[in-house]
Amino acid sequence: MDNKIAFFDAKPYDRKSFDVVNRNFGFDITYFDAHLNRDTAELSAGSDAVCTFVNDVIDKPVIDHLVEHNIRILALRSAGYNNVDFKAAYGCLHVVRVPAYSPQAVAEHAVALMLSLNRKIHKAYSRTRDGNFSLNGLLGFDMFGKTAGIIGTGKIGRCLVSILKGFGMNVLVYDPYPDSTYATAAGMRYVSLNELYQESDIISLHCPLTPQTEHMINKTSISRMKDNVMIINTSRGKLIDTAALIDELKSGKIGFAGLDVYEEESEYFFEDRSAELITDDVLARLLTFPNVLITSHQGFFTAEALHNIAETTLNNLKEFFNGGYLRNEICYQCGKTCLKKQHKRCF
Ligand code: NAD
Repeated sequence: MDNKIAFFDAKPYDRKSFDVVNRNFGFDITYFDAHLNRDTAELSAGSDAVCTFVNDVIDKPVIDHLVEHNIRILALRSAGYNNVDFKAAYGCLHVVRVPAYSPQAVAEHAVALMLSLNRKIHKAYSRTRDGNFSLNGLLGFDMFGKTAGIIGTGKIGRCLVSILKGFGMNVLVYDPYPDSTYATAAGMRYVSLNELYQESDIISLHCPLTPQTEHMINKTSISRMKDNVMIINTSRGKLIDTAALIDELKSGKIGFAGLDVYEEESEYFFEDRSAELITDDVLARLLTFPNVLITSHQGFFTAEALHNIAETTLNNLKEFFNGGYLRNEICYQCGKTCLKKQHKRCF
């Protein structure tokens, strides 16, 4: 297929994985380092499709611009889609995503954060390289027998449940759409959010960012948690009120925080800013805590996931240009991956 794709926020690893997979598709891909936003939308002129990632801003002005340039398809290289104004897109721009590329990758990264924080691997690494072989300050705890609270039992949450069960942890889960068949088979139970907050030694977030979940971890919810609780967020930064998190890290209520995402990550994450000053005081404060581990939205970043992202994205575009049913379309009416199989297209 020789359709032209404007590919935004292209990193060297994206180019590599897409170029390999595109050998089977033959799209004409132009890679742009820039994020897609109001200032850069013009770069898409002359293209048949745009392809974006989590920190591109697809709001109404951007959508209007794309549509003016006869672009009818936006291919997200992500599962999450909170950066798209679906109301503005409905009826003029199809939006497709990659619903699952490797839930294991993200779940395993959540576990990496838990273990590193618990056993202070980040500190031990620097210490031994500096010739310091002391164990003072590195005391951890057994995961075995502790309680993990998993918020959101979708694809990633379920992978995490099975890993943590392997550690011999007691697992509690919360989801507004509980699946009792799954819970019985997995040998664990759904509880209220309140019970999960009160009982868990480790709380890990695996729900989408929605108006209901924004700042769900805040001063009130933290006050219900155990002292010294560990909070892991590999989902979306805005699930946590970062100011409240910092207050409770300072008070000692929160014992550990593992953050693969951050409320204002778009300025920093995925970029090398090592030669500059950090002007975001909240991020700078977070980076000072020895019991906070921040990774730069790398949960998805495995070879398997990159391959799957490229394959599903290019297949989504192929379905569109072939005029068929878009299996991974998200639309304003359906509010999720569109399952209207009786229609060829949502609109
Ligand atoms: P999923 O759609 O399979 O599962 C999400 C689950 O959250 C569903 O079971 C849903 O019922 C539940 N949910 C919805 N509203 C909720 C609420 N108010 N409270 C609790 N649970 C709620 O999604 P997934 O593939 O498991 O991904 C989860 C999140 O992980 C995504 O939304 C995305 O933000 C994030 N993610 C991060 C990375 C990364 O690299 N760090 C990669 C992929 C996905």
